[in-house]
Amino acid sequence: MSSGVVAPKTQEEIESIRKSSLLVGKTLAEVANHIREGITTLELDSIAEEFIRDNGAEPSFKGYSGFKHSLCISINEEIVHGIPGPRVILSGDIVSVDCGVFMDGFHGDSAYTFPIGEVNEEKLKLLRVTKTSLYRGIEKARSGNRIGDLSNAIQSFAESHGYGVVRELVGHGIGRRLHEKPEVPNYGKKGSGPVMRTGMTIAIEPMINQGTRQVIQLKDGWTVVTSDRKISAHFEHTVVIGEENAEILSSFKEIEIAISKNKNITEIIETLI
Ligand code: MG
Ligand code: MG
Repeated sequence: MSSGVVAPKTQEEIESIRKSSLLVGKTLAEVANHIREGITTLELDSIAEEFIRDNGAEPSFKGYSGFKHSLCISINEEIVHGIPGPRVILSGDIVSVDCGVFMDGFHGDSAYTFPIGEVNEEKLKLLRVTKTSLYRGIEKARSGNRIGDLSNAIQSFAESHGYGVVRELVGHGIGRRLHEKPEVPNYGKKGSGPVMRTGMTIAIEPMINQGTRQVIQLKDGWTVVTSDRKISAHFEHTVVIGEENAEILSSFKEIEIAISKNKNITEIIETLI
């Protein structure tokens, strides 16, 4: 029976989730080292899988509900769950890469959206706002607050820029399983939802659309796209709830070092927000 109460993790469990989450960041950095116009999404997936296995871990997504790859790669109007394949990345694409790894019994989960080649300011703004909305949510993730407090922070920030907030897909608890309780929506009311407690580990992952929030699932059974085919962005961190604030267990540090060295990727400057 579900009591609705989410058990906090032990310090040892949290350290395992941190190790897996940091390896996700390094894997996404490896993707950032290689991503460019002309590379296929399947090539990026192979690079990631090899990197994960070389580091003694397994890709969380491979085999999950029959998914056959290590990354979800979602381009432009694709929101999440894009399947790696022969598609070639083009200049002007925004490419969301979602990755999970499983090591020593625990998962880590993180995602980043890369602007490739010549990307216009309008697209870059969506990326900046989506990434900032993630941190607005993390700011509200602390013991005693409710999930709705962080959901509302993400939603209100994204909507203040006129963007659509995806509702059909949400963040989640994370630990021995990739997706645990509670659900962590990117929309909601302050003061609603489960109370967060120190030691709870959750993945926060706003999916923000340039236009409508409405989504459609493609016939491949996985890829979710915006119904108006405008672009969508996705950023995700795995965090642990603390007394005063949340600690981010995943990291964008290596990713952003890789971005600064890869002239095919435009840096997302966040100073205007
Ligand atoms: Mg993810
Ligand atoms: Mg996730």
